Amino acid sequence: MHEIQRHVLLNPGPATTTDTVKWAQVVPDICPREAEFSGVMRQIGADLLRIAHAPAEEYAAVLFCGSGSLGMDVCLNSLLPEKKRALIICNGVFSERAVEICRAYGLPHLVLELPETEAPTAAALEQMLRAHPDIGLVYTTHQETASGLLNPIRLVGELAHRYGALSVVDTTSTFAMLPLHVLRDHIDFCMSSSQKGLMSTSGLTFIIGRRAAIEASQSYPQRSYYANLYRQYSYFEATGQMHFTPPVQTMYATAQALREYFAEGEAAKWARHTRVFEAIMSGVESLGLRCLLSREQMAGLVAAVLYPQDPRWDFQRVHDYCYARGFTIYAGKTAQPTFRLAAMGAIDTADISAFWRVFREALAELGMLIPGAAADAR
Ligand SMILES: *Cc1c(COP(=O)(O)O)cnc(C)c1O
Repeated sequence: MHEIQRHVLLNPGPATTTDTVKWAQVVPDICPREAEFSGVMRQIGADLLRIAHAPAEEYAAVLFCGSGSLGMDVCLNSLLPEKKRALIICNGVFSERAVEICRAYGLPHLVLELPETEAPTAAALEQMLRAHPDIGLVYTTHQETASGLLNPIRLVGELAHRYGALSVVDTTSTFAMLPLHVLRDHIDFCMSSSQKGLMSTSGLTFIIGRRAAIEASQSYPQRSYYANLYRQYSYFEATGQMHFTPPVQTMYATAQALREYFAEGEAAKWARHTRVFEAIMSGVESLGLRCLLSREQMAGLVAAVLYPQDPRWDFQRVHDYCYARGFTIYAGKTAQPTFRLAAMGAIDTADISAFWRVFREALAELGMLIPGAAADAR
């Protein structure tokens, strides 16, 4: 096992992985139809349910080969019965993507449209649900990964259930980080993928959802052949195999990532992400920079940092300087120009201290004057 150059990824996934996860992909060739491989997938499914605190009698983990957006697509296209509408809570680019998916399938839907800096209130949501009894599914993005905004999923789920709708939550950028409890949080379906909170390689997407609702969806309109939830679920239940070719090597990496998840522990892992995030935030503050959102609005995983008011600020040049030194920062996706720093992956506070040294060096080197930075950099 030789050493692999370590990169600190501050983009919100794919995240920095451990070398043990990287190396877990190097395995003897295996046909994924073998029982041995089914065992690997069954264990992954059981572990994913444990992370969500989902009882295996009531919930199933359904695995797909694809990136996180596939999980969004599958849930939306598969879980809506005829004559029902989806309600999308929309306050950022990822929930906008959910709206685009509805449009692409011609799914009847409503949008609770909010600014990217605002979470929905119970009153606004309840008004929608009361006015439209045909809402069959309420879709929320747990963390809007562009802004770092935390949406109140427990409140949304409770209201959805009160009005007889399913609660579907995109937990792609919080799963295996922010502790999640599907029963307590009133979640019927949630989803994520291997390369984010799990700190594995990319290619595996999974949906955790209520068995009864998946079974019921058998009679719903089939809007996709490949990306259909019931087809994938029933095939796996019957055979222990994915219907189509799984991402074989990523499965092994993910099995290792899950061992490391449980070895670190839910509380300790969340505490680590939190201290990494606080180290990011204290660097932002000491440079005199500001974030798009207040700390209370954020999930505590992604900081969307407003561009400084300096005509010499050039994100790309700062990015390139940091990238050449092993630190990846990420462009923004918000209406106001921002760049992003994420507290995901196998990193700790020492990495963030090292990053801020390089970032300050970049500003000094490139002649960018930022309030708070100039004095400190000298
Ligand atoms: C990353 C992410 C996705 C999926 O993005 P892919 O590029 O398809 O992996 C979906 N929703 C949220 C909230 C995300 O952060």
